[in-house]
Amino acid sequence: MNRKYRKTVVAGNWKMNKTVSETRAFAEELKNSLPRSKRCSIILCVPFVNITSAIKVLKDSRIAVAAQNVHWESHGAYTGEVSAAMLADLGVKYVLIGHSERRQYFNETDTFVNKKIRAALQAGLRPILCVGETLEQRELDVTSELIAYQIKSALSGISAEEMRHIIIAYEPVWAIGTGKTATPEQAGEVCGTIRAVLRKLYGARVARATTIQYGGSMNPKNASTLLAQPDVDGGLIGSASLELSDFLQIIYAANEE
Ligand code: PEP
Repeated sequence: MNRKYRKTVVAGNWKMNKTVSETRAFAEELKNSLPRSKRCSIILCVPFVNITSAIKVLKDSRIAVAAQNVHWESHGAYTGEVSAAMLADLGVKYVLIGHSERRQYFNETDTFVNKKIRAALQAGLRPILCVGETLEQRELDVTSELIAYQIKSALSGISAEEMRHIIIAYEPVWAIGTGKTATPEQAGEVCGTIRAVLRKLYGARVARATTIQYGGSMNPKNASTLLAQPDVDGGLIGSASLELSDFLQIIYAANEE
């Protein structure tokens, strides 16, 4: 982390977990258990149907609510989809875009990811752009090229000014939900590569100011060492964000480092 230049952000991605009543109870306890000092920002990425309840409970707290997906059109005949304007109207602040599960199970391509980022920004939402390589790609030694390609495609047409509103999450696909975590060095190296790509695209100031999270089996045991990497500015946490005590321990670790 480098708090001098950018925000540290811990986000929990609940995926398709928790009912409305479970959301209320969790959010209530979370907001009452946070560290006093505000050295890291906190986001909860909840299922669409839990957004209203989460926002209500977290209204006067410093925890922001995020959606896990968004459609790229503002309205129309897209059965089952939700637009960025609808999310913004509810009080949603952030939205996950390009999570590997969306890419893998819902055929989300880099082109769709780019369209979603534009739509989110247009509606005033802050995208959390997820990128990451598969195990096969890592073994073929194409991680850097692949990540650079994902970043460039996702950010095509996005201005330096708009970049101020974007968080990037590096999530190696082989580490998501598998219990296999990237080593701190691997996480730090790829987050550094992402920052170098941003430097080329937008210049040193934007690159320095962009929050880049690591995600992939982050837990209370490994959080501190991952977060100690200078280019890792927080975490995107799946499984460990479902357990209040685990999530809190990671928040406390991010607050301390
Ligand atoms: C995620 O879903 O973004 C994630 C990182 O999951 P997990 O922490 O369970 O690997």
